[in-house]
Amino acid sequence: MAAPQKGDLSAAERKMLQVIAAGDVQEAAQLLANNEVRINCLDENGMTPLMHAAYKGKADMCRLLLQHGADVNCNQHEYGYTALMFAGLSGKTDITSMMLDAGAETDLVNSVGRTAAQMAAFVGQHDCVTVINNFFSRARLEYYTRPQGVDTEPMLPPRLAGPLHKIIMTTNLNPVKIVLLVKEEPALVDPSALQKCSRVMELLCEQCVQQQDMNEVLAMKMHYLSCVLNKCLSFLQNREDKLDSLVRSLLRGRDSDGFPQYQEKFIRDCIRKFPYCETNLLQELVRSIAPVEIGNDPTAFAVLSQALTGQMAFVEGDYCVTCGEKGADKRCSLCKAVVYCSLACQKLHWFTHKKMCGSMQDHEAKAQDTPRLKELKEDESDLVFETANFLQELCMRAEEKVAAAGGCPLELLSRPSTSSEGHPRPQD
Ligand SMILES: [Zn+2]
Ligand SMILES: [Zn+2]
Repeated sequence: MAAPQKGDLSAAERKMLQVIAAGDVQEAAQLLANNEVRINCLDENGMTPLMHAAYKGKADMCRLLLQHGADVNCNQHEYGYTALMFAGLSGKTDITSMMLDAGAETDLVNSVGRTAAQMAAFVGQHDCVTVINNFFSRARLEYYTRPQGVDTEPMLPPRLAGPLHKIIMTTNLNPVKIVLLVKEEPALVDPSALQKCSRVMELLCEQCVQQQDMNEVLAMKMHYLSCVLNKCLSFLQNREDKLDSLVRSLLRGRDSDGFPQYQEKFIRDCIRKFPYCETNLLQELVRSIAPVEIGNDPTAFAVLSQALTGQMAFVEGDYCVTCGEKGADKRCSLCKAVVYCSLACQKLHWFTHKKMCGSMQDHEAKAQDTPRLKELKEDESDLVFETANFLQELCMRAEEKVAAAGGCPLELLSRPSTSSEGHPRPQD
């Protein structure tokens, strides 16, 4: 059969487009069953039925068309739009996910050189941007559930693929949330399982950097998740309270202002350990984080999250203070200053929030718990020690990189430059 020509539609196909616009899935199914509709036919503008359904935000219709073999990557539209771009423009995250699951290419560009994620961002559909930027196919992960080469065992036992994929697909990168996701999966709460998952994530990270069209965003995400899994592993092996004690460490606020500094240092540390210092993304992150004193905005979490998910948000609060979940609406009834997504999250946070809750209330009620100096646990003092050199090391790495590249104005990374004489010299 010849490839469909633009605008060359039969009466049944014109009818089909009307049915799609009306959202009548039953009638659409009937038309398809009659075999009078070519699934990838093109209207005058080069739009397929799938593009129409995606643009109109009709999820059931999209599903039906995909089941009938609609080509998700058809690129005949007059301005080069794909079904994924239309999905992004519609603002429907379920349709966007559906296109991705069906194999939509994320890096196709339209006639003005924009990808689907960029188009969605352009019209303010940030949730769709997040879905696109965080997509990772289950098939790609399942590769590791088959023994490769001379190995007799797969790197990833098949029963771990599902739980791990769920973690990879999370768009909320709050470390507490990730630990809670791990806790939810009995198969993952096991040192050898965590070790395997973490190793696979590092391999995926490497793959994302080395593939032809390097995906720095996904590489950083894989690396970050691998770090969190490793941290889970170390708490599981060394702490009596296991993952609960990791959650508490991540949430514990410092006495002066309740800022969760362990969490901040942990995330900075994850970024610092990203093995590919030549990537632009790492340099951008460093530039955003390095000048910020711990406790000030933006937090490492906000910067990382924005870079990896494309979410600009984090302004004002409908984010759960415990797990970072969006749409939190349960306010602390005493201070009204913090919100949670659930009672469980409020309970998790109380041990540390209770120290601040009093001073957050407007009236004079002095906190019943006298603030006390807290001994740093071993794990934390290590981190403090390591982080002391964090900024310096990052700056040095960046400067080396600049020097290697023949020098470009990256003074931002080190100290404020007061002269125009070029790179700041190391002090004696
Ligand atoms: Zn929460
Ligand atoms: Zn409170």
